[in-house]
Amino acid sequence: MIDARGPGIVPRMTIGYSAQQLFSKRAKATGPSFLREISVVSQQPGIISFAGGLPNAKFFPVEPILRATEKALREDGRRMLQYSATEGHAGLREWISNRYQKQGLDVTPNMIQITSGSQQGLDLAGKVFLNPGDNVLIERPGYQGAIQAFSVYEPNFVGVPVQEDGIDLDALKSTLAARSIKLMETCCSFQNPSGIAYSESNRESMSALISQHNLAVVEDDPYVDLRFMGTSAPALRHYLGDRLVTLGSFSKIVSPGLRLGWMVAAPEIMVKVNIMKQATDLHTSQFAQRVLYQYLVDNDVDAHIAMMCGVYKHNRDCMLAAIKKYFPPDVTYTQPEGGMFMWCTLPSEADAMALFEVAIREKVAFVPGPIFFTDGLGKNYMRLSYSNVDSQQIDDGIQRLARALTEQLDGAHV
Ligand code: PMP
Repeated sequence: MIDARGPGIVPRMTIGYSAQQLFSKRAKATGPSFLREISVVSQQPGIISFAGGLPNAKFFPVEPILRATEKALREDGRRMLQYSATEGHAGLREWISNRYQKQGLDVTPNMIQITSGSQQGLDLAGKVFLNPGDNVLIERPGYQGAIQAFSVYEPNFVGVPVQEDGIDLDALKSTLAARSIKLMETCCSFQNPSGIAYSESNRESMSALISQHNLAVVEDDPYVDLRFMGTSAPALRHYLGDRLVTLGSFSKIVSPGLRLGWMVAAPEIMVKVNIMKQATDLHTSQFAQRVLYQYLVDNDVDAHIAMMCGVYKHNRDCMLAAIKKYFPPDVTYTQPEGGMFMWCTLPSEADAMALFEVAIREKVAFVPGPIFFTDGLGKNYMRLSYSNVDSQQIDDGIQRLARALTEQLDGAHV
């Protein structure tokens, strides 16, 4: 007899079902990105947000991308709507390789894998190198997205502090001597979250220390082109050669919505990366790759980057001026020469998590320090992003933040 509720509807089962019991250890262990949650709160109307690391949407090349899309579809529509090679669009890989070669780096197209953003590069690096329990050396503070991506592979994180001119070399030396590190991750050009760039001598000494051990190094490098003052240090690849895996991105120089990035690795690593990428998503959107390639061929992306850098420099200067004007004098902060972030060290009694709540009431947002630490510390730090605000918002927002901070510190002193 057909059930009265109609065919296909299964009568209530008697065996208990609990998705919770079925989740993998890694799904249970990996937490949500607090940064994403903060970004949602920060986008409420009226809030001035120094929180999300968003490129300034005003500068997205909407019209050029529209023209590139139409041209690519007309010239190559059948191919760009079809499945394609795992390693990515040949022209795009060549374009990326040329940029490295102009810096004197021997990066050939076969060393480039196109990825769905550099975030996927972090995941692929984890897939290729990490077993549960492996030691991963990360910067302290470090990029929260890297911590999350690697967490899926259940490693043990070992933090090494970063300072004004780069990684703490003494701490790096003793960490490498004391534990067997499988993988190290560094964002040495305008680090997220601190905004610092490793100096030439720091890169050289760091590489010399690394060279004494058998570990892979992932250089997460999405901000390298956003230098707006000072001079660039030589690329890490000059020192570390083939052991270095570099992650690049079009997110900060063209658009994050395209979800296009790349991974540079030696051919022996690339073989494994290619297999892991295939297993993950077959290939990155061929449509997006072909459109971006057309955009890059038909436009002067360096002029576009220079224009953005001019704005980011102006915003950074405004933020520094506002901090000097409004913040208590015992707050210290980095003075980045590029990228999108500034890192503030608050007095030791401050609590950035609690401050976030007060700041939201004052209608200003930032990212509290603990998010960038794997050991639960970092409560007296905050990350401020200056890329997606204007000078008036910076002045108003820093003034509001100073009010929230003073309120908290006054509360701590009574
Ligand atoms: N690495 C770092 C250091 C980042 O700041 C970001 C973006 N916030 C990413 C990787 C991911 O960027 P995407 O996937 O958009 O290339």
